[in-house]
This record gives sequence, structure tokens and C-alpha cells, in this order.
Amino acid sequence: MDSRAEKAEAVYTRLNAAYGIPDWRPAFAPVDELILTILSANTNDRNSLRAFERLKEQFGEDWDAIRVAPLDEIKKAIRVAGMYNQKAPRIVNALEKLHREIGAYSLDHLAGMDVDEALEYLQSFPGVGHKTASIVLLFCFRKPTFPVDTHIQRQSQRVGISRAKAPPLEVKRDWESLLPDADYYALHLNLIRHGREVCDARSPRCGECVLQTICDYAHEHRAG
Ligand code: SF4
Repeated sequence: MDSRAEKAEAVYTRLNAAYGIPDWRPAFAPVDELILTILSANTNDRNSLRAFERLKEQFGEDWDAIRVAPLDEIKKAIRVAGMYNQKAPRIVNALEKLHREIGAYSLDHLAGMDVDEALEYLQSFPGVGHKTASIVLLFCFRKPTFPVDTHIQRQSQRVGISRAKAPPLEVKRDWESLLPDADYYALHLNLIRHGREVCDARSPRCGECVLQTICDYAHEHRAG
């Protein structure tokens, strides 16, 4: 492979061939996506979704009720997502900020911001980093920002898109410099799927992998 740009294009194309090109369709309203993504830290999708559903069951579709609820009640509702001592205040802080600054539980004003402004705004919420901010912006507004989770970081390092010790923000910038904006959504979803199904953290199944011939890790381990 002559260049990282060619490799990035090959990763995108091969994963699309393996898994299809997912259509962009927002599954959640932006505030729901923000809260769900806060809940998703260090747990799997099933547990974060269960915590989100329990929150809604307990408090109804009423963010104001959650904002003023005793913290212990929120912790109890989201317990299944783990790290509830950190996640409950983060949720309340996010709702407080929206209530104080916007006067509503809405992120619709992000639609009119450019991507850097919107990223900066979301990252001003306590406990919200570039991954969460990028997920909200890409998934709900189709803004061109590439969210990097642990699966994407690991594969990017192994394949050789990013350097071996690149932190998530560097990985994000690597992909954004190599592929067009329109590719981010499909690439994000397909890399996560590939990381779960094939490029496992402990035992990657390189022999079954569509990226094997362009992957630095596979080359090194075959040579070694
Ligand atoms: S070849 Fe192996 S290390 Fe490389 S992406 Fe595939 S599974 Fe992961």
C-alpha cells in the first residue's frame, strides 16, 4: 500500500463490502443521544440503553424532573450502566446547563453552528469529551466529525492508519485528514462492528479479516 490515504480508502471500501453501507438515520433526539452517550462510558450498548430506558421509565419523558431529582434516585435508575457515581452528576450537570443557558432541554441550536463551534460547545459540558460530542453531532446532525471509541482506536493503530500509541484525538484527526466527510458515518459504524466481531482486543482473528493484506499488525505477526 503506497500511502496512508490509499490504506484508509481500502479500509473504508473493504468494510463496506463486508458489512454494507449503513444509511444515516438519527435514532435519538439530540438531548437523548447526549444522555445516552454519557451513560455509555465504559459499558456496552445493551447496559447503557437499559439504564437510559430505566431513567425514562422512572421519570417519564421529563428532563426537568431528572434535573431536580435527588441524585441517589438517578444513580439507582442508571445503576446497570456502571460508574453511576460519576454518570448521575454528569447527566444533571448537562441538564442544568441547558436549562440555564437555553431555557429548554434542546440542542437544536447546534444545527446552525459550524462543526468546530458545535464541538467546542458540547465539550463545555462537564464530562463530555470529543467522542461524545462527535457522536451527537454526527449521529443527530450529520456534521462532519469522526467519533473514536476504543474499538476504532485499536484497529487504527493495528492497521497502521495511526501510530501505535496514538491517543483517540490523534486517531480522529488521522481519519479526518485521510477520508472525505461523507465517509465518517459508515466508517464509524463498520469499524465498531469489525472491532467487536473480528479485531478483538485480546485475540484478533486476522485469518478471517478482510483487512489482513493491508494491516501492519498482521504483517508483523506473520513475519515474526
Ligand atoms: S488483520 Fe488482524 S489486527 Fe489487522 S484489522 Fe484484521 S483482525 Fe485486526
